[in-house]
Amino acid sequence: MKKSIVMLGAPGAGKGTQAKLMSEKYGIPHISTGDMLREAVKEGTELGLKAKEIMERGELVPDDLINAIVKERLARPDCEKGYILDGYPRTKAQAEFLDSVDGVNFVIFIHVPEELIVKRLVLRRTCPNCGAMYHLEFNPPKRDNLCDKCGTPLIQRDDDTEDVVKNRLAVYNEKTAVLLDYYRNRGILYKIDGNRPIKDVLQSIVQVVGE
Ligand code: ADP
Ligand code: ADP
Ligand code: ZN
Repeated sequence: MKKSIVMLGAPGAGKGTQAKLMSEKYGIPHISTGDMLREAVKEGTELGLKAKEIMERGELVPDDLINAIVKERLARPDCEKGYILDGYPRTKAQAEFLDSVDGVNFVIFIHVPEELIVKRLVLRRTCPNCGAMYHLEFNPPKRDNLCDKCGTPLIQRDDDTEDVVKNRLAVYNEKTAVLLDYYRNRGILYKIDGNRPIKDVLQSIVQVVGE
């Protein structure tokens, strides 16, 4: 069966971390709309110019822009056996659009208590070269501030500051949390306790999605 998987959860819940591990395990692409947007900002494309300030404030990029890039991405041949969407959909309109493009069969909701989120994000570090994710306390790199995989110096994302994180959480509660009911009603929402070691969270996901 094709594995069409959506990762859902607040910012910092661990969606990207798990999606990367799942992508390696299942051999299907990890599609992060946040990564695609950051790439567009870095390259200075038309999309990037539109998205930059919105992202810096922690608001959402307009649905039609993001829907268009996701549709194009899902049409590529590497998605034929399935894919893992991370950071999309984030609004009801995006979820409805996704339904019109392809059928989702697993929605993995990673739940982490809100009071833990800020600490997760302000201490998050990312590799600007290969996208690997670290946490200064919970998942530190082996060598100080250097990526384990490629040796590149790690960076902190512009939107991982306390003020912007709080706004991102508010936006999540206002616009994205409604998707929990949307998918629960269809019987495809699987809630996973994300406040455990990374490998234990992965194990619970594999129990749902299969070996
Ligand atoms: P999201 O994609 O949901 O925003 P990330 O996967 O980037 O979240 O994780 C946010 C931060 O929390 C990162 O610094 C990551 O290393 C750390 N993290 C991820 N999963 C766990 C976990 N199970 N326990 C502790 N820290 C984690
Ligand atoms: P997170 O750590 O919260 O998972 P992401 O990397 O998914 O962060 O997203 C970073 C930013 O990119 C968001 O705050 C938002 O501005 C923008 N973004 C990413 N995905 C979407 C989307 N599906 N719809 C609208 N905006 C998005
Ligand atoms: Zn790297």
